[in-house]
Formats: sequence, structure tokens, C-alpha cells
Amino acid sequence: MSTTVAAYAAPAANAPLERTTIERRAVGAHDILIDIKFAGICHSDIHQARDGWGEGIFPMVPGHEIAGVVSEVGPEVTKYKVGDKVGVGCFVDSCRECEYCEQGLEQYCVQGMTGTYNALDKNGEPTYGGYSTHLVVDENYAVRIPEGLALDVAAPLLCAGITLYSPLKHWNAGPGKKVAIVGLGGLGHMGVKIAHALGAEVTVLSQSLRKKADGERLGADHYYATSDPATFEELAGTFDLIVSTVSAPLPLDQYLGLLKVDGVFANVGAPEEPVSLNLFSVIGGRKTLAGSMIGGIAETQEMLDFCAEHGFGAEIEVIGAEQINEAYERVLASDVRYRFVIDTATI
Ligand code: NAP
Ligand code: ZN
Repeated sequence: MSTTVAAYAAPAANAPLERTTIERRAVGAHDILIDIKFAGICHSDIHQARDGWGEGIFPMVPGHEIAGVVSEVGPEVTKYKVGDKVGVGCFVDSCRECEYCEQGLEQYCVQGMTGTYNALDKNGEPTYGGYSTHLVVDENYAVRIPEGLALDVAAPLLCAGITLYSPLKHWNAGPGKKVAIVGLGGLGHMGVKIAHALGAEVTVLSQSLRKKADGERLGADHYYATSDPATFEELAGTFDLIVSTVSAPLPLDQYLGLLKVDGVFANVGAPEEPVSLNLFSVIGGRKTLAGSMIGGIAETQEMLDFCAEHGFGAEIEVIGAEQINEAYERVLASDVRYRFVIDTATI
């Protein structure tokens, strides 16, 4: 039998989020029931709650940075037991048999992953995310939160952490590599921490120098303002890898000019409008313009273990559920330091 639980939902596109109740499915043979403790606010929640990426499914309960404790397990569950600390990120299912699912790249599943919210599950039922008190999920789509990582600072790792870890690893950020992170928000601040921990020389490219001291404390070696045209002259041809986390369209040609020969510009920001590109920007210098989307389950576990080993989670501001709408406005104004996390006890 399904259970009625409390949640915060956007009743329609662009409407403020409000308290409501939703149904969670009965705990199936391979499912775990999670008592959600904390849920991060990702900029993707705002894009989707406002139909920025196309028509959403409403009411929408956003939230794909979920940290909590297992409170019930189905009879066939082998990986988790009651009391375990677990996380759930951006997807809760995939086909499990395509070449990408088999390689642990479930986020690129040929059939399409099932989003944690704003998606339909295999039975055609809408999925509801982490701005809620409980979640039922297949054990194969949860990850273990290691000892030593508190649940509140771990929550943002489930999206912001893995979204930066995956491209940084894929394009070999490490000793001897010059890496730039564009945008010091939720994703960007995790990019700085992870790239630094991987041993790369890290530069932040932010709109202004307002957050320079924070960026350096988080692990940046250099910090530049992109509002200053001199930045693009001074840093021309500098980087092996640039990861952009910017939520708005960027003048790509300018940024591609900052790469070395064979350099990679990996975009993870997901702006609502298309960008323009002069192809000469990649021809000269044999440059790569690439994208990357979150990470698979195994890599998410690897990232959590990496963060625990290095002793860091996210920099967070914990809020009550009644502050969600205000937090959205602050994220849109780039006024976030560096992730809002909802204490779900307040829902
Ligand atoms: P965020 O906390 O709002 O951070 C974005 C940062 O981008 C801001 O803090 C700001 O940094 C910079 N920025 C914002 N507007 C800008 C503009 N007009 N020009 C230049 N820089 C600007 O958002 P987030 O949660 O990190 O998410 C960032 C983007 O990634 C969103 O579009 C989100 O949907 C997307 N995303 C993608 C994936 C994926 O798998 N690829 C996963 C999660 C999120 P400064 O103040 O330092 O300039
Ligand atoms: Zn996200």
C-alpha cells in the first residue's frame, strides 16, 4: 500500500512552492524506504519548476540532492540495512541492459534514465523528488554516504559533486594540469574543491572578484573576474581544461580562446537558451568543445568516498522549507554561498 507523506511542490509552472502531500509507493522487494534528512537546492530545480527546459510535470516536487537514513528494506534487498546513511541523486531508474547502463553510465541510458522528479516511472506514474520527508527507491539507484561525511554537507554531492567529479576525472584533471572552473556557485565551488584535491592548478573565472577570498579558501590558486576584458588577454592559451557551470549562455568564442592547443572546454551548465559559436574557435588549436551530465551510480559512490577521504563536503546554508522560494531568488541572483540545503524536518 502506498503511503502519504509531506512534501513541498510547485503546483504549476512559475508558481511558488507550497506544502502539500504526495503518495510514495509501497516498499517493493528490491526497494528501500529512506527517511530524507536533507535535500539540496540545485539550479536545475529552478529551471524545471519554471518550465525553462520545456514543459514540466506538475505538481512538481523538485530535489535530486537527497541524503537520509534507511528506515525499511524490501525482502530481496542486499546492499542496505535499516539505519544506513544513503543518498539519491538525479535518477532513480534506467533500462539496466543497454551498453551504457552496463558500463555504469546509467545517466546516458539509451531508453533514457528516469529522473528523480519531473519524470514518469516505468508504470507511467510521475516521480517526486527530495523536497519531501520520505522516498522509496530501488536499492541499485541509491549510494552509501561514508562515515565522516555529515548528511547536510553530503546532500549537494549527489548532484553538484558528481557533476564536477565526472568531467574532471574524464579529462584527467590532476598534477601538472591547469584547470579553470567558470562560475562559483553550487556546482562551481565543488569543482574547485575536487580539482584541487585531484592535484590540478585551479583558476576560478567568476563574474566579479566578490568571492575571491572564498575561492582561495576552497582551493583555487588563481581567481579572475570575467567582467574585466583584460582577463581574456592575460589568460589566452592557458588552460588544459575549462569546466563551465554557468546557468546562462556564455560567449563561447572568448572562453575557447583561453585553452591551450588540444585543450577541452567541458560544459555542464544548462542554460535555457541556445548559444552561438564561431567554429574557427575550435579549428585553431585542435580544441574540444564538450558536455557532461552528472555521473553513473558507481562513479557517484567513488566521488562520495573521495570527498570523505579528503575530508570535505559542500559549503552550505541550511534553510527551513518555508524559505525555499526566497532561496530560489537568491540562487538566480548568484547570491548563494554555496548551496542551500533544506532541513526536511521543517516540511
Ligand atoms: P548556481 O549555484 O546558480 O551557480 C551558477 C553560477 O554561474 C553562479 O553562481 C555565477 O557564478 C555564474 N553565473 C550565473 N549567471 C551568470 C551569467 N549570466 N554570466 C556569467 N556567469 C553567471 O547554479 P548550479 O546549481 O551550480 O547550476 C549551474 C548550472 O548547471 C545550471 O544551469 C544547472 O541547471 C546546471 N546543471 C547541470 C548538470 C549537468 O549534469 N550537466 C547538473 C546540475 C546542474 P559567479 O557569481 O561566480 O559568476
Ligand atoms: Zn542538480
